[in-house]
Amino acid sequence: SGAHYDAIILGAGAAGLMAALTAGQRGRRVLLVDHADEPGKKILISGGGRCNFTNIHTAADRYISENQHFARSALARYTPSDFLEMVNRHGIAWHEKTLGQLFCDHSARQIVEMLMAECRDGGVAFSFGLPVTAVDHADGMFRVTIDGREHNAPSLVLATGGLSIPKMGATGFSLDLARKFGLPVVQTRPALVPFTLGEDEALFRSLSGVSTEVITRWGKTAFREAALFTHKGLSGPAMLQISSYWQHRTAIAVDFLPDAANDWLIEEKRARPRSAFRTALSRRLPERLAEALAERLQLDGEMATLRDADLRKAQGQLARWPFHPNGTEGYAKAEVMAGGISTKALSQKTMASAKVPGLFAIGEAVDVTGWLGGYNFQWAWASGRAAGEAL
Ligand code: FAD
Repeated sequence: SGAHYDAIILGAGAAGLMAALTAGQRGRRVLLVDHADEPGKKILISGGGRCNFTNIHTAADRYISENQHFARSALARYTPSDFLEMVNRHGIAWHEKTLGQLFCDHSARQIVEMLMAECRDGGVAFSFGLPVTAVDHADGMFRVTIDGREHNAPSLVLATGGLSIPKMGATGFSLDLARKFGLPVVQTRPALVPFTLGEDEALFRSLSGVSTEVITRWGKTAFREAALFTHKGLSGPAMLQISSYWQHRTAIAVDFLPDAANDWLIEEKRARPRSAFRTALSRRLPERLAEALAERLQLDGEMATLRDADLRKAQGQLARWPFHPNGTEGYAKAEVMAGGISTKALSQKTMASAKVPGLFAIGEAVDVTGWLGGYNFQWAWASGRAAGEAL
């Protein structure tokens, strides 16, 4: 009983829209389902409303996953230029901002409208604004119940995204369904998320609003971008990036002087011996930060009165300043979720489950998490495309 389709896609976000338009344009009868009353809500708020829709430096090593190689195949078959071709075809104006990040000139809404127009071209059917109350699987058919009505298809795509920003309707639905069908799930955690600092580092919380370019390091991973102090701790792109790698109860190291020569402070002492230590620091750092660091280093007074050995030591400390976050601001503030449906359960070519024929998983619900800067959308497009071509 109920309506019949070739495929039902759960989640009309970035990945689900791409899978739907791809399969629809291949002649498949597709139902695209979302509990939200409009598709692509995260696209609409992304990139400050301008959607950083891809990154021209996309490569598998800019994604975090238990299997570093998993994303390579899909990313190679649907590239940033492939997506850009669609954007250009729809006459959407864009620009490169920084570090290969491509943004709309005008509005993220253009991206959602483009994807919806492509879905309509493919004859995709939509069910928006109604909750999915049951998903069952029997005799090779998936049955999805929405508002008391049954919809059947031999293929089901899990595309409901990750747990970040629950206020916007994010749920663990795909993870729950994956578990129900026996697919392994890698422990999830907030990623691209601001750090919180505890009482030991409360001094830095008083710098709220101060920003400076740094290098953040955790293990062998490093990012050179802006850091921002907040009343809770540390944010800004450099911190968000490293947060995806960070593990609880470990330190991150921050280089506050990425461009300074090794003996810069000693040169400063020779050049301006009457200058205060904090004033010397403020030649390269915002004044409030320079003051806080000088206080922490317990170096006060005129440069001429400080020993070269102490200045050399201080410079070393400023280049590897340890912060010990006591946590993060969590899913409420995380741009993405790391972890998710294990890549072990999926084909890297088609995103299909090996165990449950006809079941697919794409986008953020899968254990593939990109860097900040358009990489997460590119994964959503590429994995959505891969599934859409296989449906
Ligand atoms: P989503 O786009 O989240 O789509 C999932 C869909 O499933 C949603 O429409 C949701 O309503 C629906 N859904 C959820 N639960 C259910 C349920 N139980 N039943 C039915 N439907 C359900 N990435 C970038 O690359 N560039 C950016 O500029 C960028 N900016 C961002 C800004 C913010 C504030 C946030 C939070 C994220 C940003 N991201 C950005 C990350 C990016 O938005 C996601 O990685 C991407 O949207 C994931 O695509 P998806 O299709 O897997 O999931």
